[in-house]
Amino acid sequence: QEQWPRPAATRVVTVANQKGGVGKTTTTVNIAAAMALHGLRIVVIDLDPQGNASTALGIAHGVGTPSVYDLLLNGRPLHELCSIAEFAPTLQCVPATLDLAGADIELTSQVAREHRLQRAVQDYLRRPEPPDYIFIDCPPSLGLLTLNALVAAREVLIPIQCEYYALEGLAQLLNTVDLVKSHLNPELTVTTVLLTMYDSRTRLADQVASEVRAHFGELVLEPVIPRNVRVSEAPGFGQTVMTYDAGSRGAIGYLQAAREMAERGRTMQAGGSGE
Ligand code: ADP
Ligand code: MG
Repeated sequence: QEQWPRPAATRVVTVANQKGGVGKTTTTVNIAAAMALHGLRIVVIDLDPQGNASTALGIAHGVGTPSVYDLLLNGRPLHELCSIAEFAPTLQCVPATLDLAGADIELTSQVAREHRLQRAVQDYLRRPEPPDYIFIDCPPSLGLLTLNALVAAREVLIPIQCEYYALEGLAQLLNTVDLVKSHLNPELTVTTVLLTMYDSRTRLADQVASEVRAHFGELVLEPVIPRNVRVSEAPGFGQTVMTYDAGSRGAIGYLQAAREMAERGRTMQAGGSGE
């Protein structure tokens, strides 16, 4: 496999959209897998109590597994919670377990509740051999978990499903990003938008795609992810579509999207998260 370009400094990317089912998790794990298969060092932080990213990456996340919950509520360092994915030695994942479902409420009474993940990520990046990318997969809400992800990251990647209500709720997300930027994390920027579940048979998908491109301009990655049943089958086998069916249209879409993201990273300015 060819080696994709490494960014000058670790890119910390939060994958967010408070709508459920728009492709956050699918995007996180497949871009992460595609990059890792091309030699980049990747850490995925699963921040959704459902643990779907952990499942797709084949990472154990049963009750009792050391997880992102221990990082947020017990101050465990990130490096102690990473497991290596079987299919790619440069891909690590901090899993989410079901106890994370209570974390939003448990965090409410904690000091520095919005900064827990940021501190863990910053400590981790001071260690030798930091990764090229950290991807944080968010739950479908704008609660404290997503807030922690936005405070910890430098970039936001917004997956947008090519469907009728696609743009609904985006204003709220962008508003939250602005609030985080002005009060908690001045570095935060929406850098990437990805069109997901594109169905070329509908005129609607085209309309949504042009509307999103008109609004977000060059932030939108050129490749579009097609709706493809192989993408939705893969997690059932504890896999990403990159390994489940590398020749499928879904895998090729994610491969191209990941490559473009890596190419863009080559020319990005150096700088750590929130420092
Ligand atoms: P989110 O994390 O935003 O809730 P998911 O990534 O879990 O969304 O995707 C929602 C559902 O849609 C999942 O069942 C997933 O397998 C399926 N899915 C995602 N992307 C595609 C695609 N390109 N083609 C077909 N199914 C997809
Ligand atoms: Mg998800």
